[in-house]
Amino acid sequence: MTNPRRDSRFLHLKKIALGLLALVSICAVVLFASKDARRATELRLAEAAGNIATRVVASRSEGGGAADFISIPIEVRKLNEIIFQARGVANTQVIATSEGHVVFDTGLATQAAKQRRILDDALPPGDITHVILSHSHQDHVGGTRFWVEDETEIVAHRAFSEEQRYLLDLQDYLWSRNRMLFPFMPENPIKSGPFAYGVIEPTLVVDDTKPLRFEQGGIRFEVLSTPGAEGLDNLCLWLPDKLILFSGDTFGPNFPQFPNIFTMRGEKVRKPIEYIASLERLIELGPEMIVPSHQDPIRGREKIRADLVKMRDAVRYVHDATIAGMNAGKTVHELMAEIELPEPLALSQIHGRVSWAVKSIWEYYATWFHFDSTTELYAVPVRSVQPELARLAGIDAITKLAAEHVEADENVEALHLLEVALAGDSSHRAALEARLSALQNLLNQAEGSFQNSYEMDWLKYRIRATNESLAGAMQMPIRRDTASP
Ligand SMILES: [Zn+2]
Repeated sequence: MTNPRRDSRFLHLKKIALGLLALVSICAVVLFASKDARRATELRLAEAAGNIATRVVASRSEGGGAADFISIPIEVRKLNEIIFQARGVANTQVIATSEGHVVFDTGLATQAAKQRRILDDALPPGDITHVILSHSHQDHVGGTRFWVEDETEIVAHRAFSEEQRYLLDLQDYLWSRNRMLFPFMPENPIKSGPFAYGVIEPTLVVDDTKPLRFEQGGIRFEVLSTPGAEGLDNLCLWLPDKLILFSGDTFGPNFPQFPNIFTMRGEKVRKPIEYIASLERLIELGPEMIVPSHQDPIRGREKIRADLVKMRDAVRYVHDATIAGMNAGKTVHELMAEIELPEPLALSQIHGRVSWAVKSIWEYYATWFHFDSTTELYAVPVRSVQPELARLAGIDAITKLAAEHVEADENVEALHLLEVALAGDSSHRAALEARLSALQNLLNQAEGSFQNSYEMDWLKYRIRATNESLAGAMQMPIRRDTASP
């Protein structure tokens, strides 16, 4: 006869023993296995962790704008006989040659191990000779460690290390700002382990005076400096024999579009004239196919040329109109309101907005002092006297006036007034309701006009925050009344 209690204790012990055995085996693999086996284990673990992270982010996302990129399937497609692409939030490309493979961009860290595995399954055997990084943004460099082998060259722009340095130094600041726009992001950046940002050391650098040219397996490669775009460290890969351009984020996530001259996410200045020069350079190449690191390849020499010329001319037009307005003594706000693209240069403003480009170019040249008010010189913002203004005028009276502006579709004027009212009482119900209406009107207008994803994401964030205030339960990354809607 068996003793059920003893049996269950035996089974329990057996489970523990098997568990320990498995743990010891894994440790043995990690400690004593060959480098290849360790690497394979690391890739498998990174893929499993990355799949979980991707699922969590996707489950939090309501779609629209940047969130749509999360739903792009991670899969391989072959663009021609030598170019393999793993899709995802950002794409990873491999140019396969008989003398080894060249990788262009390594994707988002949490998707990169899977991208590497599925590319490995599709690629012919070969060493990874080069990993070329289009710029230092997280979604383009995240998988670098999964690709680099002993002899692999890491190719980046000369400005890459400095751009990576400041993005890492300001990681907390930038993360908290990005989370306002993209609330599906994890609460905090990953600062250690295989997904951590900021550890890449290029072994070959390029700049305007030093492009990198090499031939491998009968294919010529040219890595060209194309600053501007998404950063000073932007570069492109050109295959002159195939007329194919790997553009990273040189054109932003869509092509063609009006670019983000510099982004509202809080990053460093991007230089407009350098960007125009970069576009000139790419027009001269005459690409037949563009392979961007987001979304789909673009084909057709004539169409590509026409769109590149349009982008260059649109940026040039906005730049020159801003300079002319500055010299004519106009204010930045006057120019933001009046400068528009003429019809032949009309481009999608889904990513960059012309009025923000005007402000960017203005501040790029004139910097922080607008010669508008003495108060600009001192650490005493207008907010410091708003509570007194609210007391003086009365919060109800200001709110009533603001509501009339909302009624007249003057929503930004209403928001100015409501900042005063809410400085007097941050939980004033009518003021919060008027703010909600103004924000909702602006969102409706954004959806009905340029559909600019950053504008819509910001307005949605402020609407969420206002709803939370109304519900009396506010938990914000920054105090709600210190950010201007
Ligand atoms: Zn990107």
